[in-house]
Amino acid sequence: MTECLFCKIAAGDIPATVVYQDELVLAFRDINPEAPSHVLVIPKDHFANVEELSAEPELAGHLLVVAADVAKTESSQGHRIVFNTGEHGGQTVNHVHAHVLGGRPLQWPPG
Ligand code: 5GP
Ligand code: ZN
Repeated sequence: MTECLFCKIAAGDIPATVVYQDELVLAFRDINPEAPSHVLVIPKDHFANVEELSAEPELAGHLLVVAADVAKTESSQGHRIVFNTGEHGGQTVNHVHAHVLGGRPLQWPPG
């Protein structure tokens, strides 16, 4: 059995507030939101990070389309889509996820 937290969420073994899903991807609300709207978009299959996901360009493109749709729906005045990667990128869950942030003016640059 997988030890990956987001694989468990994708399988429905851990509950999440789902805002969109299809056969390939799942979008759900971050448990610790950093903005009024903070949604994570993941592939249902396991890829550790965006570098691994880039081996599947169709899936990567689909994930980006879904992230953009969620962003447009949740944050019509603008938003930010982020992939934290690795130690220096601040990634804490090693299943690739797009952070979709919005609902307020966002500071730039991040730390
Ligand atoms: P990272 O730090 O890897 O870029 O982002 C991981 C994100 O996953 C964090 O924003 C964190 O709040 C979120 N997260 C961690 N555990 C859970 C969980 O069990 N459920 C949900 N919905 N989000 C989680
Ligand atoms: Zn996983």
